[in-house]
Amino acid sequence: MLYILLLAPALLLALYAQWKVRSTYARYAKVRASCGLTAAQVAERLLAHGAVSLGKPELRRVRIEAVPGQLTDHYDPRTKALRLSRPDSTALADIGVAAHEAGHALQDAARYAPLALRSGLVPVAQLGSQLAFPLILGGFFLNAANLILLGILAYTAAVAFTLVTLPVEFNASRRALQLLQQTGLVTHPREVAAVKRVLSAAALTYVAAAAAAVLNLVYYVMVFLSQRR
Ligand SMILES: [Zn+2]
Repeated sequence: MLYILLLAPALLLALYAQWKVRSTYARYAKVRASCGLTAAQVAERLLAHGAVSLGKPELRRVRIEAVPGQLTDHYDPRTKALRLSRPDSTALADIGVAAHEAGHALQDAARYAPLALRSGLVPVAQLGSQLAFPLILGGFFLNAANLILLGILAYTAAVAFTLVTLPVEFNASRRALQLLQQTGLVTHPREVAAVKRVLSAAALTYVAAAAAAVLNLVYYVMVFLSQRR
């Protein structure tokens, strides 16, 4: 019961964020951007601009690839690949997403600390989220508080990952909007507002994930405290 009360707001926020990102994306996937370039071309231009403005020529070597799926776009810091789900689209939504991924590539080139921290946290967070629940459940049934505590520590790594993701994502979107305007690709206030809407909706899904993770952690801590009594 407590679990439902605690997690319900996070679940509702997650559902809302999911709906918001899908509907906003769908809306602007139908609106052609006035620059007339494809998402892949926009990414290339922004990377070239970043290479000059940051003095990081390696940004020109970032490979732009196609990736299957919907909204699967991402930048991979290990292979220096920027992957787009709709590289040939000229829609505002896809251009906004491509600019956001270029923002991640610029973070990588600029050695933006939260991005490096997030990359480092990936394996720890994956292991932590896999081990947390079995440890806590085991501790609960075996009446072993230490096991629950271990599970909580494991889960903390997963929570840290979702929290570090927030500045990384907000910063990538901020860079995206700056880049699009500096290069003159998206300058009309209506188009800037549209890109902002798409990127804010995407950011909301990360906020929802972080909120759910934090509330889950709070719940685990409460289980631990009740076990000790
Ligand atoms: Zn991102």
